[in-house]
Amino acid sequence: MLKKNSLKRILALLCQKLQGNTMSNETDEISNFNFISPHKSTSGRKFQIVDLSLPYQPEEMGEPQYSIIPSIGSDFVEGQNVTHRLYISEQARKQIFRHIGWGKNIADNQVEQGGIMVGHAFVDKEKGLTVGVVRQAFTGQSARGSGAYLELSHQTWKEMVDQVDEFLDANPSEDFQIIGWYHTHPNGLSVFMSGTDRATQSRMFAEIWQFAIVLNPHKQIWRAFYGKDAVECKGFMLAYTGT
Ligand SMILES: [Zn+2]
Repeated sequence: MLKKNSLKRILALLCQKLQGNTMSNETDEISNFNFISPHKSTSGRKFQIVDLSLPYQPEEMGEPQYSIIPSIGSDFVEGQNVTHRLYISEQARKQIFRHIGWGKNIADNQVEQGGIMVGHAFVDKEKGLTVGVVRQAFTGQSARGSGAYLELSHQTWKEMVDQVDEFLDANPSEDFQIIGWYHTHPNGLSVFMSGTDRATQSRMFAEIWQFAIVLNPHKQIWRAFYGKDAVECKGFMLAYTGT
């Protein structure tokens, strides 16, 4: 399991990289950072981790009977061969919806917004199902997109990393993982993974238990995706905070 200390070390290394890159353009795309899997293939020495514990493996357990809110499920109809599902806790939903102004037309949500999702993943072997459960969302307050692309600056990443760090400190007994990211496609845009989004996913959230969600706060639609190829899966909003 990738325990807290390992994750914190990754975050610290990210901070180190951020600080070492102060000469770079402030609006480098997030895909420039090898954030979640620095132990896999790193070219920058600052990211090299030599004694990382075994990669995180989602726990095996049966999929619980979650209480969901059907009216705000993701815009996807499950077929027969379901391999992934994403559940978003009430708390995380409120955090994300507040950040992106879900159902509102405000100045802040005219451009793309985004953040990191933290929670748990597990595997239901009987169903052949990988399940992600988002517990907390960490918002990139400084994120400002151009309408076509989401751009998260170094400062924004650092803000989010600091938030994750604080959260881990406050919840030492939980085995929280960074299980994905979210971002918006505002106004008339549909919700899909663009080429840039896919590049971000494959570089930073490439594990089979990592997800992306794309939301349009104005149309009030969203879709969920998983793994390095950003394959679509069904996403659900939970109706309560517990497990
Ligand atoms: Zn996008």
